[in-house]
Amino acid sequence: MPLIVNLRHLEEDELTLHGELPAADLDLDTHDEMIRLIQPLRHELKVQLLEDSLLVRGWLRLTLDCQCVRCLQPFQHELVLDPWACHLPLEGEECVSIVNDCADLTPYLREDMLLEFPRHPLCRPDCRGMEKKTAGKAKKAGGKEEPTPSVWAKLDKLKL
Ligand SMILES: [Zn+2]
Repeated sequence: MPLIVNLRHLEEDELTLHGELPAADLDLDTHDEMIRLIQPLRHELKVQLLEDSLLVRGWLRLTLDCQCVRCLQPFQHELVLDPWACHLPLEGEECVSIVNDCADLTPYLREDMLLEFPRHPLCRPDCRGMEKKTAGKAKKAGGKEEPTPSVWAKLDKLKL
């Protein structure tokens, strides 16, 4: 069920949106190769029509499939916005766009979700990354030096 509310349905009573939204419909561009969106967004939202605005309240949950920037292990990060609320004016410059009496809530929660994305995903806060011992052994044994992955270059910049 897409996150679209029909204002006519709201005239009589508040509306509850409950379900899942496919990640593709969220159109979230993370600009981060360490974060992938596979799972759908789960949500439960109550929408109320006020005098000149919409009030949306509820919660949002999204599981991110991440790769740790230090050890490169895959892990899941649960992103929870609970409570989440959004106030959408129906008039004025910042007003929500209405098409055929319907308002799409997706752009509003998209923005708030992106703000909660981990900047540099870590499998755990104190992750030490790949063990240096292993790297040394591999060098001696094979004699081949692996090219430094781009994530390490990024990490080195962070250390400064
Ligand atoms: Zn890690």
